[in-house]
Formats: sequence, structure tokens, C-alpha cells
Amino acid sequence: MDWNLSVASEEIIAVRLTQTEKESGKERTHHATYWYDATDANTAYSTELLDGQEELVTLNELVKEALADEEHVRASALHPIVRLYDSIGFNPDGDLVVEFDQGQVAPEDEGRISVVIDKQEAAPLLSEFGERAQTAAATVASDVQLADAPQESQKDSAEKPAPGAIPVVQDGDPDCSTAESKCIALTFDDGPGKRTSELLDALDEYEAKATFFVTGEEPLREYPEVVQREYAEGHELANHTMVHPDLTTVSRAEVKNELTTLNALVRRDTGYTMNLMRPPYGASDDTVSEVSEEMGLAQIMWSIDTYDWRDRDPDKVAKRVMKDAEPGSIVLMHDIHGSTIDAVPTILEKLDEKGYTMVTVSQLLGETEPGESYRDGHPDSDEK
Ligand code: ZN
Repeated sequence: MDWNLSVASEEIIAVRLTQTEKESGKERTHHATYWYDATDANTAYSTELLDGQEELVTLNELVKEALADEEHVRASALHPIVRLYDSIGFNPDGDLVVEFDQGQVAPEDEGRISVVIDKQEAAPLLSEFGERAQTAAATVASDVQLADAPQESQKDSAEKPAPGAIPVVQDGDPDCSTAESKCIALTFDDGPGKRTSELLDALDEYEAKATFFVTGEEPLREYPEVVQREYAEGHELANHTMVHPDLTTVSRAEVKNELTTLNALVRRDTGYTMNLMRPPYGASDDTVSEVSEEMGLAQIMWSIDTYDWRDRDPDKVAKRVMKDAEPGSIVLMHDIHGSTIDAVPTILEKLDEKGYTMVTVSQLLGETEPGESYRDGHPDSDEK
């Protein structure tokens, strides 16, 4: 790990970290720029140079345009999330500079990818802090004394999240505590798979949210960009372990390792810390519950099993959902099966016709208790 100061003024400093990571014999270099504002003693993510999520979405579009002619860049890898936009700065002319890690949006041998957004074009996107940072970046000082920080950080604790940190539960979400709201949670395990992006398109069409119980090893390693898209589009990410063992048959240390590693990988790819898990096969015991509790993870089971892994028949899968759907249901499906992907448009259409709102598990259940097990979110029901 190495660092340098990319901006140093009396008011603002920016530290750019360069991190080299070796994984499975491959070396990758990451860059991240963290900001500090001495006027209020606050640190900031790079995305806080921007005024809000909308501005980050616009920046993401500008970046896509700027990279459109670069054949090796994968447009599907560009999402307005904090983890991808973790290194933003300014050149001395005041243009906005965005950089992506090696391998993040293009093949590894292309190295680091950077985009310069013209000062004029960037101007409407900046936050008040971003404007001051832009000015500070233009002033080259060789000997800087950082202004004294005020005694206490003045950061408002109720402050909105940094752009690109997508909250799973937001103001204005449907209130699922009453039966009238007809909330239902569709959940997809074991993915992502090769057709998960089609599923995301279908969800998008109905403005439906879902929860993805992601599995480590191959799915996550093979489709990190799909997980990033799931996160960027407001779906919930949840932990379904690294290698999908029956957790009741492995040691406590292994349970912990399975959950910790996946949490870390998803955090690395998205910046998001998951707080729900589903034990493979729904198999849990006291050890699994205790470890989940320690890690801040609630255990999410289901109330409707579609048996989509057994019956690879879209009609059967859709019928099973519709037969048992009621407000508060948690539906179990697997996005690694093509037949399930084919069933989803029908399921969404029918649920929509019946007035259901498709929500994430956290939107359905509200605040959950780590370690506790939930099988549905039926309103007015006392049982868990
Ligand atoms: Zn599973």
C-alpha cells in the first residue's frame, strides 16, 4: 500500500491510496481518494464531491459517453455506486478526473482507466465541498499548514448518505406493516447466474425490488458487475455463504469464515455491508444463530417454496407463487435457473395485477434482529 497527497491546501487535503492486492496469483492495483475538510474536521468519500445521487448518476452517464469508443471498456461495469467512484479528483485546470481500478471496467492488462470531465460540464454536479476542493486542487502549494480543526466534528449525524451508498430502506418506501399495502418479497438464491441481468430488466419494468442471496466462489467471482448492478438498482444483497455448505455440519470457525468472507467480498465490490443471511438449505442450529448474531446478520427463511430447482418449468413455478401469495410472503427462487428467469415476467405481471408491491426483505420486515430467524412478514401476525 502506498499513498500520496493529491490535494494539499490549508483547508482541504486529499489522500490518494494505491493498493496492490494479490488474489489467486493475480495482482491488481486499486486506487481510492479520501478527502478531508479542515473547516469542519470531516472526512469525505470521493462521491461527496458531488451534490447527490442524481449527480452521480449523471456523472456515470458522462463517463459512459466518454468511454463509448474504447472497445475494451465494459459499459455494463459502470454503475453509480460509491465503490466504483471511489477515486475522484481534479486536475490543475479544475476538470473533474475519475479513475477506475485495474480490471474494474476493462480487462486487467489495460491497467488503470481514467476519464476527464470538462470543468464546465462538471460544474453543475459539484457539491459545495466539491467546489472548494476544485479551487484547492488548482492551487499548488509546497509548504502547507493545515488550519486548526474545530474541537468537534460538525457533521450532522442525521446527514444523508454519501452519493453512491444506496440505502436499502429509504423514506417514502411502502409501509408493509398493514395488509392493505400488500407487500411481498421475492428472493433469489445461489446467484448471480448468467441470465440474472435479464431478471433485473424484468424487475425494472415493474419497478419491483427483490433480494439476492448471493453465493461467493463462482457466482460472485464470475459476475461481480451483476452484483454491483443489483446494488445500484436498489435491490437488497444478502449473504448465502461462500461455498454453500450445510452450515449445521461444519465447525463454528467454518460457519464464521463462510459468512465473513462473503460479507467482505460484497463490501469490496459494492461498499455495502449486508445484514441478512440465508443458511443454505434453510439448515440452521444454535451455532449458526450465534455466529449470525455476532456478525449482525438476521436469518431469513421463506414462506413460499417454488421448488424451482426441481421443476424447471416456468408455468409450475409461477403457479406456485400465485397459489400461495399473500401480503407478507417471502418467496424462495433461484436465479441460476433459466426456467426461473422465464417465470419471473409472468409472476411480476400477475402480482402487479393483484395489487402487490414487490419489496426487499428489509423493506418487508423493517428492522431485523441479528441472529433471529424470519420466515415471513405477515402484517398483524405475532409469529416470526
Ligand atoms: Zn442455496
